[in-house]
Amino acid sequence: MRLFRGRIFSPIADPFTVDPARSYVYYDDGYLAVDGDRITGVGAWRDVPKQSSTLTQLGPDVLITPGFVDTHLHAPQLEMIGSYGGDLLEWLNRYTFPTEAKFSDPKHAEMVARIFFDELLRNGTLCALIFSTIHERATGTFFEEAERRGFRAIIGKTMMDRNAPPALLETPKQSYEESRTLLQKWHKRGLIRYAITPRFAPTSTPELLEAAGQLKREFPDAYVHSHISENRNEVQWVHDLFPEAEYADVYDRYGLLDERSVLAHGVHLTEEELELLAHRGTRIAHCPNSNLFLGSGLFKLHHTLESGVVVGLGTDIGAGTTPSMFTAMSDAYKVQQVQGVSLTPFHLWYLASLGGARALSLDAESGSLEAGKSADFLQLDLKSTPLVALRSERASSVEDLLAGLIFTADDRVVRECWIAGQLVASRT
Ligand SMILES: [Zn+2]
Repeated sequence: MRLFRGRIFSPIADPFTVDPARSYVYYDDGYLAVDGDRITGVGAWRDVPKQSSTLTQLGPDVLITPGFVDTHLHAPQLEMIGSYGGDLLEWLNRYTFPTEAKFSDPKHAEMVARIFFDELLRNGTLCALIFSTIHERATGTFFEEAERRGFRAIIGKTMMDRNAPPALLETPKQSYEESRTLLQKWHKRGLIRYAITPRFAPTSTPELLEAAGQLKREFPDAYVHSHISENRNEVQWVHDLFPEAEYADVYDRYGLLDERSVLAHGVHLTEEELELLAHRGTRIAHCPNSNLFLGSGLFKLHHTLESGVVVGLGTDIGAGTTPSMFTAMSDAYKVQQVQGVSLTPFHLWYLASLGGARALSLDAESGSLEAGKSADFLQLDLKSTPLVALRSERASSVEDLLAGLIFTADDRVVRECWIAGQLVASRT
């Protein structure tokens, strides 16, 4: 058994539904006990179990906390972060499609995959739901790199058969067969899961969505990953392409909505759509940094949650400008502030960890520091920069300590990353 002694903070419940003061555990001087890949205990140091263990003394300047969960991002878009100007549909045509077309080259995919997982781990993200491109081989490369790192990843080959350059189009049959091959190879292999990944309704013919639905029927425990109602022009376009239905109905008609479906954005959903998503158990990945960058709109977090929809937080690289979940939390705070709602650090940290795991149906396994769960955790260095040190020293409470980190910390704060009891990245 291994013991880690330091400060410990972990969400353990949903602060949107329980008293935020009862939604977490915090110990100034605490222990985390790990046996193999499992957490076996968390508590105050004075209550540490008396049995022989390897002890790592971290002291009060290290905060042990669950790994971050990024519920929506695009691995191939790493190199185009900050491609500015234009809204979603202009941005896709001008920057995204040419960038994704490069992934027909396996060497390019290998290079980007290495940097991609380096960046996630550097920022303390230990679990993510990831878009690849339409390329089978490049998607395989992302799976291989995730597995090599011991990363907890859900990845899918993008499916698209219209409204994109010819180099990024496939037939529904080809899309189905290549997706199926990857799914059979990778789904539930160690920490890896597969997501059936139609890009979004506008790049899908009814036949492609039918192929995606067919896969979902064959593999009901696979994920579905797509986008919905990010931008008003996009919503209008979906109405033109599928005149008989609301946006959410398009996915529902092909059997693509259940509790393992994660749809990014949901900024402009109607009441009827929210009701349908809640009824199906479909999750929304809220990506505030991306929504601000593309000028897509302001997500109505409380209204979405009150409608019964489970929400996680995502960076949406490359419309999001950083893989940092600190920035995702900071931007989530600001997007609610301008709508007159103040989220506490407990709400934000929950969304970035346990809430994200719940959005990905992985909360029984990961997302918090609780006995029996996988040992997925971070060590954060509260002296990582002079500013973080000053802000952390002056923090008046755990709430204030977390707020300081959310608004001043960056990748330099992430000291070590552990997934399933294995050290997967270290700055020390
Ligand atoms: Zn996206």
